Amino acid sequence: MTENVHLPAPAEFGRFFLPGPTEVHPDVLAAMTRPVIGHRGSEMSALLGACDPVLRAIFRTSRPVYVASSSATGLMEGAIRNGVRTRALSLVNGAFSARFRDLVDDCGRDVEMYDVEFGRAHDPEEVYTRLRDGKCDAVTVVHSETSTGVLNPLSDIAEAVRRAEAETGEEILLLVDGVTSVGGMLVEAEAWGLDFLLTGSQKAVALPPGLAFGTASERMMARAATLRGRGQYFDLIEFDAYAKKHQTPTTPAVSLIYALAEQCARIGAEGVEARARRHWDMAERTWQWVQERGPRWGLSLFAAEGYRSPTVTTIAVDGAMPATRISGEMTARGWTLGTGYGTLKDTTFRIGHMGDHTVDELNLLLAALEEVLG
Ligand SMILES: *Cc1c(COP(=O)(O)O)cnc(C)c1O
Repeated sequence: MTENVHLPAPAEFGRFFLPGPTEVHPDVLAAMTRPVIGHRGSEMSALLGACDPVLRAIFRTSRPVYVASSSATGLMEGAIRNGVRTRALSLVNGAFSARFRDLVDDCGRDVEMYDVEFGRAHDPEEVYTRLRDGKCDAVTVVHSETSTGVLNPLSDIAEAVRRAEAETGEEILLLVDGVTSVGGMLVEAEAWGLDFLLTGSQKAVALPPGLAFGTASERMMARAATLRGRGQYFDLIEFDAYAKKHQTPTTPAVSLIYALAEQCARIGAEGVEARARRHWDMAERTWQWVQERGPRWGLSLFAAEGYRSPTVTTIAVDGAMPATRISGEMTARGWTLGTGYGTLKDTTFRIGHMGDHTVDELNLLLAALEEVLG
């Protein structure tokens, strides 16, 4: 550390409840101190090869899972470049789904927006209706909107897209941002027929920031092969060719691949089903706390029942203490919470119960929160 950078001593594990980046287990951090290796050698292939079955289990697919050295937004852009021919229907209900929509436009495609109020989920029937004119060849959707804590009914949306496809006879690819769902719940890439599903390392998978993961259906790959302007960095055709050798097209963030291998071993040991259950347990505990204890301080759940994310809870505040003061007081006591996102900054705060946290650690957080609220 250089002399003029002063960082506080790290807090003990289990006090950092930001909805991304999430807290990284010490064993995973330690794995990154190993020497850097070449990325075309057998060691790298062995490392990525060992991660492969666990990544496929996390994504619930038998297809390859590509590893990109970028934040999740990189693969959101890759989804558009490789998956949208001329026009996409973008489902917008928060900050990240708005980014997905903007990317469609940035990549030179037409975009039609189906937006609902922040805090609400999309209606699958409405998705079907909007696709019936056969003009859109892809749909973008964020499964778990981290900015609001809303979980979209993804399997129903996928079913609606398939129905519109059958009716119009046009291929419509479903491109899914699963950044705060993949690794925190069972997102069935294959069984639900998702054409592209992506996540970033620093959310429910609980790795340091810097990697993104994605899996594509066969028809997405077939379409990608016909599209010009895929670029170099997120060209899925290249990713696929290299994945066959358990390598990446360009130099990967080697130290992060060590962390990935360690975390894949840990996730493999826990089991993806058990990991998903642990997340639902944490979410339910949080909702129960807000509903039982929250009203005395003017706290309530922002997202409606049935549409709450298992990884992040947004809590609306209409009591005496502003949301920013609640998170500030928690910080002063050594706890990290998420503030409200964007326009929700003053009226909400967020608890990221994702990654490697447990209900026991969450209970300590909630106890600290009660102290702050007084
Ligand atoms: C964090 C997040 C992103 C953006 O991820 P970066 O890794 O910062 O690019 C996109 N979508 C959702 C739902 C997120 O939570």
